[in-house]
Amino acid sequence: MKPKVAFFDFTCCEGCQLQIANLEEDILGLVNLVDVVEFREVLTGTAPAYDVAFIEGSISRAADEDRIKDIRARSKVLVAFGACATTGGVNKLKNLWGDIDKVKKEVYGKDFAMPQLDTYPTKAVHEVVTVDFKIHGCPITRSEFIKVVKALVLGTTPDIPDYPVCVECKMRGNECMFDKGYTCLGPVTRAGCNAICPANNSSCEGCRGAMLNPNNTVMKEVLAKNNLTVEDIKRQFTMYSLDPEVGK
Ligand code: SF4
Ligand code: SF4
Ligand code: SF4
Repeated sequence: MKPKVAFFDFTCCEGCQLQIANLEEDILGLVNLVDVVEFREVLTGTAPAYDVAFIEGSISRAADEDRIKDIRARSKVLVAFGACATTGGVNKLKNLWGDIDKVKKEVYGKDFAMPQLDTYPTKAVHEVVTVDFKIHGCPITRSEFIKVVKALVLGTTPDIPDYPVCVECKMRGNECMFDKGYTCLGPVTRAGCNAICPANNSSCEGCRGAMLNPNNTVMKEVLAKNNLTVEDIKRQFTMYSLDPEVGK
């Protein structure tokens, strides 16, 4: 029997679900492997329990916390996918502002009284319930999603990179963004995106989150070589909730 799989979204732009909905020819392979029983973006219907629940988005309201706990209780395996779910994503910037009315005015302008934001601090999914696996990125890559699904169906542990983006960047032969006069979080960010940003002349902003043991010394050395400190690029660290203390 094929595993029952469901997709759920919380606070997010739904871009990661779109990556899955746009799998094109690979969607047939996916449907052969699993039985998709809930996926609001592409089908109607619900199910009482799931072998694997894929969670997109961050937990941003008290009501979200109840909902994710209920999903967790009905799921054998829970996978957080996309930066919003794995790190809190850009939604977590709300927590840095402190004053929720200020945040609402910034987001909604004259409609700031809308109820979509409350004082609940935005959290990554693992900060509320146990997460079995994470698929990183903003957005996720389709190939990594397929890799994780295949591993789960086979009962093996998905192989998610835990080395820095710089490794993939150097393998591609990119010129370093620091050498071009920019800053970059590649030394401490988890690889797996094939260094797509530096390869396209953009700095790594850390959307795949920090590695388990980021090499703080190297980050510090790279910054020092460019006459910078962690404090100088603190805003870059906080975009995807990388620890700005890294390198200190
Ligand atoms: S991780 Fe990025 S692409 Fe995915 S839902 Fe969040 S904001 Fe959208
Ligand atoms: S710092 Fe950025 S641009 Fe430089 S090698 Fe690392 S990932 Fe590439
Ligand atoms: S290079 Fe950095 S910001 Fe760009 S996709 Fe990879 S991890 Fe994300």
